[in-house]
Amino acid sequence: MVVGKSFNKGSTAQLNSWMGKIKEMITVKSISDLRHSRADYPSPVGLVPTMGFLHDGHLSLVERAREECASVVVSIFVNPTQFGPQEDYGAYPRDIPQDLEQLKQHGVDLVWIPETEQLYPPGFQTWVKVDELSHHLEGEMRPGHFQGVTTIVTKLFNAVQPDKAFFGQKDAQQTIIVKRLVKDLNIPVEIVVCPIIREIDGLAMSSRNVYLDPDERLAAPVLFRALKTAESAFQNGVDDADRLREIVVDTINGEPLAATQYVSCANPDTLEELSGPIQQGLLSMAVKFGKTRLIDNILIGK
Ligand code: AMP
Repeated sequence: MVVGKSFNKGSTAQLNSWMGKIKEMITVKSISDLRHSRADYPSPVGLVPTMGFLHDGHLSLVERAREECASVVVSIFVNPTQFGPQEDYGAYPRDIPQDLEQLKQHGVDLVWIPETEQLYPPGFQTWVKVDELSHHLEGEMRPGHFQGVTTIVTKLFNAVQPDKAFFGQKDAQQTIIVKRLVKDLNIPVEIVVCPIIREIDGLAMSSRNVYLDPDERLAAPVLFRALKTAESAFQNGVDDADRLREIVVDTINGEPLAATQYVSCANPDTLEELSGPIQQGLLSMAVKFGKTRLIDNILIGK
């Protein structure tokens, strides 16, 4: 069945309730099953790529997709090529039954749980790389990470062929790189960036938060506190990028369990570090608590 491109928001609720009556959520593994099922869904089709172990941050993307699209596809795939050799690929938390239950409750149409061997067949040697943007920040700390991300995102887009794809501001650099990717490769998908969802104490939701021990969990909101302190300084006239970075570093240094990896105040388009007076900037950081590495960010002046 095909619904024309003239589909608009007004008809979303109607269509959703109609689809709810006739369609159950479908889960597929192979690319051929995905393509077969995908063909039945009305446009616009929204894709929410995830690595699973879903929380309210992921679900906010699903809800946004539900609002803006006639059909919602969620992929769950812990992508090995975006993890470094010393990183947590093997230990990354997984709970497919719980994920499926949550996605069902959120009215998702199609869940794709790809098999690693199909996405990375023997002899695999083709990569998608976004050059300069991938070298900064997370790319500097995690060599090869973004090549893994941009390769898998391209493969997900090729397979699902979504009209829109939903990403979280939580991974700010990833959103900037994925936007560059679709522009440079002329991939016909609109990238929608959704706000960071936080715990009540300000800690950005993340699948990796489960690694934190109770003391680290209590300490972790220092990331958001540091960003908010710098943001209010900016609002009160402190517009020097170096000073703003310093404010973030000082706040984090006040927390003994936190070990800063980097603090950045960068141009939100190019990701180049800023210095001197600024009108806007992306304040971001990576901080370790024991073995757990957390990231967070805030856009100031935008
Ligand atoms: P992941 O499963 O960690 O790869 O995340 C899948 C998507 O969910 C990415 O686009 C993330 O940016 C997004 N996401 C993760 N955590 C949050 C959060 N706390 N708020 C909003 N989006 C998030």
